Amino acid sequence: FQRIEVPAEPKDELDQMGATFNGMIELLEKNYEKQQQFVSDASHELRTPLTVIESYARLLQRWGKKDPERLEEAIHAIAEEAERMKGLTEQMLALATGEPDRTLELRRVQIDVLAEQTAKKLEQAYERKLHVEAAEACIVFGDEPRLKQLLFILCENALKYSEDDVIISLKNHEDSVEMNVTDKGIGIPKKDLPHVFERFFRVDKARSRQTGGSGLGLSIAKAIVDAHQGKIVVTSKEGAGTTFTVTLPRRGEIEVKSDG
Ligand code: ADP
Repeated sequence: FQRIEVPAEPKDELDQMGATFNGMIELLEKNYEKQQQFVSDASHELRTPLTVIESYARLLQRWGKKDPERLEEAIHAIAEEAERMKGLTEQMLALATGEPDRTLELRRVQIDVLAEQTAKKLEQAYERKLHVEAAEACIVFGDEPRLKQLLFILCENALKYSEDDVIISLKNHEDSVEMNVTDKGIGIPKKDLPHVFERFFRVDKARSRQTGGSGLGLSIAKAIVDAHQGKIVVTSKEGAGTTFTVTLPRRGEIEVKSDG
């Protein structure tokens, strides 16, 4: 994109406008690049399951009628990859629509109750234990379905990347609620920590694919937290475990918005 020439020290209003304009161009460029990157990453991720589906379909064409064992294998693989693709497209949709905070429907949400519900569901699915620790009710102004999704992503990761029990602890601060999701699992290498919230980032692509990972979960989690004007950080030690800490405002700006 073309920039306007402005002196290093703006002399008049026109120079100042030029500098502001250049700043806007820079922002646009950055967003455009991000968008391009997303489209190219997304196409790449969708192509992998499609390639598997295609090759099994061809196998079926050639051998399907004659070889019941291959028939079984191919049908199973196709169904599994199709499901992965479905999950992936749903996540991409969540990312595409999850960003502008005006789409949030804010109301009082008791997040320790949401955590209990999430724990119960996941305990069923994974046959593992999740403990919710909250000394008192923790209420935030938030979008309940989105907060459910956030809890689900963090807890499911904790289960996927560990073998022990998972702990969800909640506490009230003056202006915020802090939630920690802790596991004693494989942890995340230090060099990868700054990247875990990036779209499609996976510490170990091969292993993550086996566990059905797309590398989108945490970027969705971050988009949800950002939309609530909260914070999400990760602390982790390889071989020892990981904690994701989410801080959500209890009131303030976000509450005013819901009133207006
Ligand atoms: P995925 O769908 O691959 O799990 P995420 O965006 O949810 O994608 O996570 C990105 C990567 O961060 C994962 O592939 C995994 O390597 C790492 N990760 C996330 N949560 C944990 C955790 N609790 N313990 C260890 N590694 C984790």
